Amino acid sequence: MAYKITEACISCGACEAECPVSCISAGDERYVIDADTCIECGACAGVCPVDAPQPE
Ligand code: SF4
Ligand code: SF4
Repeated sequence: MAYKITEACISCGACEAECPVSCISAGDERYVIDADTCIECGACAGVCPVDAPQPE
C-alpha cells in the first residue's frame, strides 16, 4: 500500500517538500510517488490543492 498521485495533479510541486521520506518527484506528466518508499503518512494529500494524492 502507498499513496498514488492521480491525473488531477497540476504539477505545482507543493507535495515534494512535505514528504518525510522524499519519495515524491517530478515525472513526465505529473508528480509521482515511489510506492516502495511511501509510508502512507498523508502529508502530500494534506498540502495538495487538487487532492491528487490518494491512498491505493
Ligand atoms: S503519503 Fe507521506 S510518505 Fe507517502 S508520498 Fe505522501 S508525503 Fe510521502
Ligand atoms: S501538491 Fe498535488 S498538484 Fe501539486 S505536485 Fe503534488 S500532487 Fe501534484
